[in-house]
Amino acid sequence: MNAKMTVEPTIWHATVLTLFPEMFPGPLGVSLSGKALASGTWALEARDIRDSATDRHRSVDDTPAGGGPGMVLRADVLAAAIDAADSAPDRPRLLMSPRGRPLTQSRVAELAAGPGPLIVCGRFEGVDERVIAARDLEEVSIGDYVLSGGEIAAMVLIDACVRLLPGVMGKQASGEDESFSEGLLEYPQYTRPQEFEGRTIPEILVSGDHAKVAAWRQAAAEALTRVRRPDLWAVRTTQNGTKSTTDG
Ligand code: SAH
Repeated sequence: MNAKMTVEPTIWHATVLTLFPEMFPGPLGVSLSGKALASGTWALEARDIRDSATDRHRSVDDTPAGGGPGMVLRADVLAAAIDAADSAPDRPRLLMSPRGRPLTQSRVAELAAGPGPLIVCGRFEGVDERVIAARDLEEVSIGDYVLSGGEIAAMVLIDACVRLLPGVMGKQASGEDESFSEGLLEYPQYTRPQEFEGRTIPEILVSGDHAKVAAWRQAAAEALTRVRRPDLWAVRTTQNGTKSTTDG
């Protein structure tokens, strides 16, 4: 076989369709994700939706049918931008959208385990509904509030995925112990100094007894979750039938 025909092992990559490609990599270019990007652990391609505009003015949006404020991204321009991007059929195609399914750590883990998504960033009042159906876009929300564009939301999603890629977090394994990994918030963390403004580190954590430390952390995580996130706690108790250490 010709060496040139050998298929490169593809690295996890995100393709972002945006009107503001200059926003990328932005914060993804520093710290853990930035080092991993520079070393080729993952790749990022930000593509300008405007490159797919066809008219003289390179317009990408138009007024909403039925009236109302703002502008809507055109279905034809967006579809052309999606079609022009590398999109292997197995790549998830996401649209950042406040109407989407709220992003969760388990969806992040799925996306991190795949080839990496193509992500469409909306602007203005959003995108023409027909392109969502025509290109089978999965709408993803990062929370119940409205941003001015999908770019920061896309960065949130990419950041959450990249830190789970093998090798990115180094010794910190794969975040198995973290908030949401067991449907629980993370236990409190402490480090030196032993005493800070009269507050000390809980005795057990400096005892060197690993079993006791683990039990303390589990109980603390459960207690925090019950108080702060009764929604997570309810899912956990019904799904697992878990008899927790803090149930009375
Ligand atoms: N009129 C729309 C909001 C448009 S905000 C509505 O009421 O639903 C402009 C763009 O910002 C959206 O198209 C989307 O891409 C992005 N965006 C805003 N809030 C978001 C959120 N919570 N999660 C993900 N993307 C969001």
